[in-house]
This record gives sequence, structure tokens and C-alpha cells, in this order.
Amino acid sequence: MVLSLENQAIDRIEQRLAEKIGARRFQLWFKNSARLDWDEQRLCVQVPNNWVGGWIENNFTNDITTAVQEATGLTPAIAFQVNTGLFPSVARTAETQANAKRVPSFVRERRAVEPVSAVTAPPIGGRRKLRYELDKFVVGSGNRMAYSAIRVVADQVTSRFNPLFIHGGCGLGKTHLLQGLCNELTRQHPNVGWKYVSGEEFTNQFIVAVKAGSLDAFRKQYRNVDVLVIDDVHFLANKRATQEEFLHTYNAIDAAGKQVVMASDAHPRLIGDLPESLVDRFISGMVVEVAPLDAATRRQILQVRATEYGIEIPDAVADRMSAAIEGNVRELEGAIMKLLAYSQLCGESVNMSIAERVIRECSRGRNAAVQLCDIEQRVAEFFGVTSGDIRCSKRTRLVASARAVAMYLARKHTPMSFPEIGRALGNKNHSTVVLACQKIEHALKADLEMAIDESVGGRSMRVSRVVETLEEQLGCSKSA
Ligand code: ADP
Ligand code: MG
Repeated sequence: MVLSLENQAIDRIEQRLAEKIGARRFQLWFKNSARLDWDEQRLCVQVPNNWVGGWIENNFTNDITTAVQEATGLTPAIAFQVNTGLFPSVARTAETQANAKRVPSFVRERRAVEPVSAVTAPPIGGRRKLRYELDKFVVGSGNRMAYSAIRVVADQVTSRFNPLFIHGGCGLGKTHLLQGLCNELTRQHPNVGWKYVSGEEFTNQFIVAVKAGSLDAFRKQYRNVDVLVIDDVHFLANKRATQEEFLHTYNAIDAAGKQVVMASDAHPRLIGDLPESLVDRFISGMVVEVAPLDAATRRQILQVRATEYGIEIPDAVADRMSAAIEGNVRELEGAIMKLLAYSQLCGESVNMSIAERVIRECSRGRNAAVQLCDIEQRVAEFFGVTSGDIRCSKRTRLVASARAVAMYLARKHTPMSFPEIGRALGNKNHSTVVLACQKIEHALKADLEMAIDESVGGRSMRVSRVVETLEEQLGCSKSA
């Protein structure tokens, strides 16, 4: 139980960390260059060499600390440990950099641990195993349609639902469904070739292939699959060259009668800055939404997680928690982790008083739980534009104001980093988000007005009033 709890904790810490520093930096510094582990009572950051350790310590210590606190409610010491067996290529190249840059040698060379056998889980039948399983997915009213459609693909490999496009807010199980599908395909149809990739990975691989002149190999790996699964496809918004390549890939697979499954945080029409040719293809099969879960489904998830951790949660506690933690499943999981961590710390079994403490903390942090999609939707409604307008590169005064307010509110009320906000709101550069936030802050200080309605001759309103009204609608306090 403890081991599984620790693994879950590391997963959650990594998720939090990725949210804070942005997926790209997380991939670079934590997925490709370091490994997090529990070492007795400490969080141990295993690094391949001093240079990487120094960089991580100088740049990410605060983020790691808050990620651990948010994910577990604990504040353990953070220790760095050199493990030369970890990512051997990084260890070698960095030696040269370390010599050139004279890094602090705070990282103690403790022991060269055996190479970590696999950062990702071992492959099944030669194919990698992804994190989520379909049979661990709890089906409720908000996700039944999406689940059923995924089941059909898992059972039949190809379906009438082609492409199958799943969209919905974050933390509602889209990635779980997509990865679960891949694992299920491996189990049921060992000879079927599938490929799971995120929109971001696809983009990065494409850029690397263009630079390296290896486009043929890049194309081949995508076009030779039976089922292509693309997560977070909204990442393609604004990326002209990648969109074109993706369209070719898509057409090739489609022409061969193969199945495509995609997930995105918005309906294809609302992703914004996607060419009509792609939107048309995305909606040409089946588009299905995953909606927030009802209390009964949340309760079931809570019980499933508790069983996984080998912990018993009394019925009354499960009722109370699932009624009180209304956000997405990720929030619910965070609350369960806290519940378990507190009960371990206090040396008590899970009880109502611990549950109340967790609920109080979760509601205190409720502002942090405001979802970007809610902000986007409210702001769009307020200004009379669409989410697509906010995400695209339109620069009319009204749309620019709406976009800037959305970015400002996202920065103030969510834990998202500038790059993440930019990416989520139509792949804007992180400096665009910084500038937008500065613009709104300046307007608030100088008590300026902004256009809120161009259809009736440019009605305007004080920026402070706009922000207050939206904060009220979103249920977040001004001081957050
Ligand atoms: P999304 O991709 O929609 O942002 P994820 O698939 O990453 O969301 O889900 C976030 C977390 O919630 C994951 O740990 C996932 O396993 C869990 N989760 C979401 N929906 C369900 C569900 N219906 N049953 C079980 N776990 C779920
Ligand atoms: Mg996802």
C-alpha cells in the first residue's frame, strides 16, 4: 500500500510541477533529465550530474516545494542525488558543460545507482504500456457516451465513429480514455498497431524531423498504424506548418480506412485558429463531450481510488467528500491524497474530522480550482465573442480586450504558468500573456475604461468593474 501511495504521490507531484513550469520545461528538466523519488522522509531528485542538479536547484526549487505541498499536503526536505546511470547520454554531454560553466558542486556524489530500467512502463508485446486502464474508468452520466464510443473502438479496432473526437474540460478523463483505449487494444488485439501521441509531441517531432531532414521516417511511423490516437489536439492551433503535415497524415490514415481518435479541451469549432479543412475532418465522424461528473460518480471514483491504495473510507466520509469536492476528477484525487497523507501523519484511520480538514483546505484553495475553461467561457459571454475568437489571432479591439482579461484572470486565479495559459488560449507566446496581464494591471491602477460592446457603438466600462463582475460570476475573490 505504501509503495503504491508513494507512486501515486510522485505522479501527482509531477502533474503539479508540469502545470507550474509548463509542459515543455517539465519534459526537458524532469522527464528527460531527472527523476523524483521518495527517499525515507525526503523527496529525492535524482540527477545524472552536478550540472543538471545545479540548474534544477537554482531554477525550480520553489516550484518543486509547492508542487509537493499541493499534491500531498506535506513539506519534506528536498535532496539532490547524482545517479550516473540515469540518462547516460545527458550525464556525458553535461560533463563538458559543467567544466565550461563551473557549476556549484552542492550535489553530493553519493552512489552510482544501477541504471533505472524503465522510466516508462515496460512494453507489452513490444509496445509501450500507457498509464491509464480502461477498466479503471468509472462511467457516469457525464462520460458514458465517450466511454461507449471508446469501447467500440477497443473491441472492433475500427468503428463507424471515425474520427472519434472527444472534448471537454480539463481533468475529466479524456487522457484516461485515450490511453486506456491503447492498452486495451494491446490486450485484445496484439497484432494491431496503434500510436498514441499528444499534439505537442507531434509538433515537436515534426520540427525535429524537418531540421534533421528525416521527414520520411517521421511520416512512416504515423502512416503505418491501424489506430492513431492524438491527445490534446488543440495544441495544433496556430501552428500552420504542423497543421499541414497533420492534415496529410490524417488523410493518409483515413484513406487507408484506419481509425483516428482525438481529444481536445474544446469542440473542434471552438479550438480557434484551425483551418476549416481540419475542423471539417474533425467533425466528420463522431464528436462527443465529456461533462463534469455527478456526485454519485465522484463517490464511486473515490471508493475505487481508496481500494487501489488499500485504504478503507467510511461511507459517511465518502458521502461528505464526494458532495463537497465538486471540481474535476483531478481535484478529487488531490483531496483523496491529502486525506490519506493526513491519516498516515496522524496515525489514525480515515475519519470525519480529517475529512473536514481536507474539505476546508480544498475550499480555501477554491480560487486555485477555477478552471481556465470557465474563465474563457464567462469572458467570451461577457464580451459577446466566442471562445474561438479568444484563441485565434483576431485583433479587433473587442476580442483583444476579452483575450487580455481572460489571460489576466487565468494568471490571477489558476495555478497555471504564463506559457501554459498562452498555450491553452490558442498557442499564444508566453510574452503575449505577460503583456496582456501587465496591460490589465496598468488599466486597473489608472482606473481606465475598456470597450465591452462594439455592436452598439462601442459601449465601454471601467476595467475594474469588468474584472469584478467576472470574478463574481466565477465565484472567486478579488484578493486571490
Ligand atoms: P483530462 O485529460 O480530461 O484533462 P485526465 O484523463 O488526465 O483528464 O484525468 C485526470 C485524472 O482523473 C486522472 O488521474 C484520471 O485517471 C482521473 N479520472 C478522470 N475521469 C475518471 C473516471 N471517470 N474514472 C476514473 N478516473 C478518472
Ligand atoms: Mg489530458
